[in-house]
Amino acid sequence: MLSLDEALARLLAPLKPVAETESLPTFEALGRVLAEDLRSPLDVPPLANSSMDGYAVRAAEVADEGVVMPVSQRIAAGQVGEPLEPGSAARIFTGAALPPGADAIVMQEQAEVLDDGRVRLQIVPTPRQWVREQGEDVRRGSTVLARGSRLTPQALGLAATVGAARLPVVRRLRVALLSTGDELAMPGEPLRPGAIYNSNRYTLRALLAQAGCECTDLGIVPDSLEATRQALRGAAGGHDLILSSGGVSVGEEDHVKAAVQAEGRLDLWQVAIKPGKPLAFGHVDGGPGRTPAWFLGLPGNPVASFVTFLLAVRPVLAALQGAVVQAPAPVMLPAGFDWLKPDRRREFLRVRRGADGRLELFPNQSSGVLSSTVWADGLVDNPPGQAIRAGDLVRYVSLREWLA
Ligand code: AMP
Ligand code: MG
Repeated sequence: MLSLDEALARLLAPLKPVAETESLPTFEALGRVLAEDLRSPLDVPPLANSSMDGYAVRAAEVADEGVVMPVSQRIAAGQVGEPLEPGSAARIFTGAALPPGADAIVMQEQAEVLDDGRVRLQIVPTPRQWVREQGEDVRRGSTVLARGSRLTPQALGLAATVGAARLPVVRRLRVALLSTGDELAMPGEPLRPGAIYNSNRYTLRALLAQAGCECTDLGIVPDSLEATRQALRGAAGGHDLILSSGGVSVGEEDHVKAAVQAEGRLDLWQVAIKPGKPLAFGHVDGGPGRTPAWFLGLPGNPVASFVTFLLAVRPVLAALQGAVVQAPAPVMLPAGFDWLKPDRRREFLRVRRGADGRLELFPNQSSGVLSSTVWADGLVDNPPGQAIRAGDLVRYVSLREWLA
């Protein structure tokens, strides 16, 4: 059996980011991966400006509390003032550029306007107080977003602040999805005896959509070698990745392995994780002149399929997009349960945070029990063979963070 880390290293090693990029309006780039470093052509702020409504002064001219000065000009945000007349203050508003010669702001709460229009400054300002310096946020020429960055709302704001109306992004990944299993029926159809509804198709398609992929849904592929081969052949060429669920254990009805081997190349790994274990990885040839598609075969059990998507598919998608691959950071939280018969594999237990700050364990940790994934708000990443007693600190990763 391979450890998860070994499996991930083998998965990621051969992957190259897709080369095609597109230019998108910054407004439309949410969630995409930046294809080139974004450098700033300007300082931000472009000019030193006031962070307060108040008065711009020369600090050296206000050596004592109570200095009275004439107000020589008024500068609102968006305006550029005249050089500050010696011995005077300039009325200034938040965001307005500091006039040449001024080096400090006295906030209006610390200034009193006299009847004759002059102003009494009630404090002794220190030089540069309440001044936002030119370039204090971003220096001209610096890289504000590195290639491979995921474009979050904050990143889009930062891109906009340096004036980027469009951004170069990696094109969306094209993923073909197939579900194997003769027992599968589709919601909306009657459930014949012996059948179950296909849930993985929904979970995986949604996970792919959330990860920003274009998904070609090939539907349910019958449990036969020929049908599986045909589905794979059809999907290669036009896709970066073919993702399947089910059919990768060692049962006689599991044809995915043989089909991928016949159409390309496959490694079948036993990964020492629970749920999860079987994971198939390889590629499917697209025929002459066509680029092969990578192949990942997830286990059929719904929880295993969900968890292996988080653990293995997300890093693969990130690598194919040239994105910085980041596993979410676990936090140490106290268990509110005992787990006295740990598995020899690394386990991912469905838990949620209780009102007392301790983690509650979903009572049925079977890899087929999909209810656990909705009840839970996170997973405990438990090392192989590690017993847990109530009160122990365990590694918790929130599902929300995983799916971000
Ligand atoms: P398999 O990996 O094909 O042996 O499937 C393992 C278990 O997962 C079996 O109980 C299947 O019925 C179930 N399963 C496989 N595919 C799906 C699916 N798409 N939706 C729900 N359950 C599935
Ligand atoms: Mg099956």
